[in-house]
Amino acid sequence: MQTSRTHRGKRPGREGRPFHHGRRGQPSRAPFRARGQGGQRGRKRFLSERIDVSRYINKAVITEAVEHFVPEHRFADFAIDARLKAAIAKKGYTEPTPIQDRTISHILRREDVVGIANTGTGKTAAFLVPLIDKILKHKDERVLVMVPTRELAQQIEGELRGFAAGLSVHGVVCVGGVGIGAQMAGLRRRPHFVIGTPGRLKDLLERKALSLADFRTAVLDEADRMLDMGFVHDMRKILSLLPSPRHTLFFAATFSREIEKLVGEFLRTPVRVSVKTQETAASIEQDVVRIPPGKQKLDVLYDLLIQPAFNKVLVFGRTKWGVEKLAKALVAKGIRAESIHGNKTQGRRQRALDLFKRDHVQVLVATDVAARGLDIVGVSHVINFDLPASHEDYIHRVGRTGRAGKRGTALTFID
Ligand code: ADP
Ligand code: MG
Repeated sequence: MQTSRTHRGKRPGREGRPFHHGRRGQPSRAPFRARGQGGQRGRKRFLSERIDVSRYINKAVITEAVEHFVPEHRFADFAIDARLKAAIAKKGYTEPTPIQDRTISHILRREDVVGIANTGTGKTAAFLVPLIDKILKHKDERVLVMVPTRELAQQIEGELRGFAAGLSVHGVVCVGGVGIGAQMAGLRRRPHFVIGTPGRLKDLLERKALSLADFRTAVLDEADRMLDMGFVHDMRKILSLLPSPRHTLFFAATFSREIEKLVGEFLRTPVRVSVKTQETAASIEQDVVRIPPGKQKLDVLYDLLIQPAFNKVLVFGRTKWGVEKLAKALVAKGIRAESIHGNKTQGRRQRALDLFKRDHVQVLVATDVAARGLDIVGVSHVINFDLPASHEDYIHRVGRTGRAGKRGTALTFID
């Protein structure tokens, strides 16, 4: 195995640019819009030719050298309920992250916000904290949170519980793959937060189990992914059912021209906050692993996984079938591995994720369903066993490590 250690460093050309221009001038971007074209082999060859290998390499900035961010606010300074401040302190947050620092006061003033920040930098609390406060001040306020994946919806509801414990602020998760009955019952209790994926939300709306007439706030987290998944019509439909004026927030680590269009359509002169200084978080060390001719990727992976440093590893594969097969092959070799992909029942997806989160397995093999938003503490390595389909997918995959100020490593296998 050879690893290339070329130091690409930061991409100076991208720094300081307004984020809505973020994708321009990236020639490798355009071809990937055409998803699902060509056979698998053809597509893969096409991709490896188009994504410049140097984009998979980045030395993590050594912690000491990271410029220390000095927030303008402390949580104590925000005009939020004292009980909420206590909950934040209890969670161990001492000061706001940059995205929290720069968006919370705008959200408290009910301004529409587009917030762009690197993976793992606290976007969830950036919207949950001011919105919980809103509900504490106006008990009849209701908030719709739309996200691309079921697991992300569950996670946000978990965070909500963490902040709102004992404050009588409740949320219901509305996602597919699980029975709709309990969600319908949950909605009848008029939860303050409805957190869901577009498909199930639409289903619940059609069954009249959900009415959005009294939801004056909408959050779209990882909205660009929802567009990629073909949810644009559902998102439009759902947003159009909320009364106006509506308070709308967009949060993501990557932004696209399509999202810009939606922003133009659905937000009122939003405050734009981008605290992203480079494509991927500086805390993620990135490198490629070249597969020597005649060697199997599985064997190279195995050789890595038996090293002690690889203690909590998220391995990304391209297809559901390939992911399942890889997880089984690892288990057969004695590695504790689980898999998560769209061919599994929701119960088994959630169970696999929980086993990985709680360190009962060393490895989680996943499709891109696990690439977005998931906050798994202490992922030591992300390995791209198969190349991602686009550079955005790459950014989100590797963003599962190096979160909340920790360091992480991402390795991409290159034939
Ligand atoms: P993002 O949505 O930007 O990818 P998350 O909202 O999932 O990031 O947060 C990443 C991690 O950082 C979570 O574990 C969260 O609890 C933690 N975190 C968020 N805000 C703070 C803060 N102000 N101080 C310390 N940790 C934080
Ligand atoms: Mg997030």
